Amino acid sequence: MNLDWLIIGGGIHGVHIAARLIGEADIAPEQLRIVDPGERLLARWRTCTTTTGMDFLRSASVHHLDLDPWSLKRFAGKGKKRRPRVFTPPYDRPALALFNSHCDHVVETFGLSDLHIRDRAMACTVDCDGVGVRLLSGREISAQNLVLAIGASEQPEWPDWAPQGEARVHHVFDPGCSGWPSQSETVAVVGGGISAGQVALRLLDEGHQVHLVSRHAMRQHQFDSEPGWLGPKYMTKFSRERDLDRRRALINEARHRGSVPPEVWRVLRSAISRDMLRWHECEVQGLDVRDDILKLQLSNDEVLDVERVLLATGFSSHRPGGAMIDALIDSASLACARCGYPIVDSALRWHPRIHVSGPLAELELGPVSRNIAGARRAGDRLVNAVLSERSD
Ligand SMILES: Cc1cc2nc3c(=O)[nH]c(=O)nc-3n(C[C@H](O)[C@H](O)[C@H](O)COP(=O)(O)OP(=O)(O)OC[C@H]3O[C@@H](n4cnc5c(N)ncnc54)[C@H](O)[C@@H]3O)c2cc1C
Repeated sequence: MNLDWLIIGGGIHGVHIAARLIGEADIAPEQLRIVDPGERLLARWRTCTTTTGMDFLRSASVHHLDLDPWSLKRFAGKGKKRRPRVFTPPYDRPALALFNSHCDHVVETFGLSDLHIRDRAMACTVDCDGVGVRLLSGREISAQNLVLAIGASEQPEWPDWAPQGEARVHHVFDPGCSGWPSQSETVAVVGGGISAGQVALRLLDEGHQVHLVSRHAMRQHQFDSEPGWLGPKYMTKFSRERDLDRRRALINEARHRGSVPPEVWRVLRSAISRDMLRWHECEVQGLDVRDDILKLQLSNDEVLDVERVLLATGFSSHRPGGAMIDALIDSASLACARCGYPIVDSALRWHPRIHVSGPLAELELGPVSRNIAGARRAGDRLVNAVLSERSD
């Protein structure tokens, strides 16, 4: 198979970029494929968001996967035709169910399911004729252009004290996590951000006894970075910064890691004040695994006896892509900053034939790069690059 475009990763970023290339850059669908191991496109997004029990997205209604920013609003219908409670203030954030139906609509509009190759990319090579990708199935695909849209969702962050492989300790974002309790249990949720809060609230709703262990006080922020990062207010200074260590520092400073929006904090605070949710602001120092119980040792000398530990500690911040990307960097001499992340041009090109999106693009797109807004920014850059190359 020799394609014009191959996208590795069929998450939020891969799907949006495919829609933009087909819908705005006139790439023929038969010349584009998306490789992703999920049984359907967006499978990781759906599993991660369902697990948290979230009802609404954290981002505004203009951040979605279609081309026109108002598409999601239109899709929700107008006046009496609009279903109730599909958006919530502030910023008209969409209900997860609405957002997901709209994703299905985008996938259908651009016929993306037919372009999905259910497989995993294992190795990439590049030369002046194009890119070659070997899949887990042994199949080889070549393409003129590659987009790496591999996200971070395959690398959940495991604290050192948490044993992997123990049947009662799970990361809520582990691919294939089967650790959700089916009957009433005492559960410790570890983590201090929105997902930890939402997981704790979902467990409470389902009748469990819940401890929430966070190593810092609740940090309240509506978004995971200030809206000024979506436009010139902060991005002008970021783009002018030539020192990539400094750019990395700006990203780290800008990101409100481990923060919760006020509406989630209100529900958590109410559950804590009514003693329904036990809140512990301290570090976990260790876990003693016994046959009948798990003993979680906290830095305030308390020991929690629980039946299950659910980690909601987010994703590891190291460069995603593992051995496949390491080997590609070596073989194609791709440039990386000291933080290990790609140095790309304004068209998100890491190499004349390799574009990146999501975390891999963050030294160019800034703190919103991983989010839905970042997928839209990446779409802008790629479409502009294709159109301007064509007009040259
Ligand atoms: C619970 C939750 C809620 C969120 N809510 C919001 C929100 O409200 N608003 C917002 O803007 N952002 C939100 N985000 C952040 C972000 O938008 C999502 O994480 C989004 O899913 C990232 O999309 P992605 O395509 O980069 O990555 P992923 O969803 O990780 O998709 C990447 C895909 O690439 C695949 N892949 C990886 N390696 C390979 C390979 N070698 N071969 C083939 N396929 C591969 C993976 O299996 C995966 O399917 C949320 C994140 C989470 C976890």
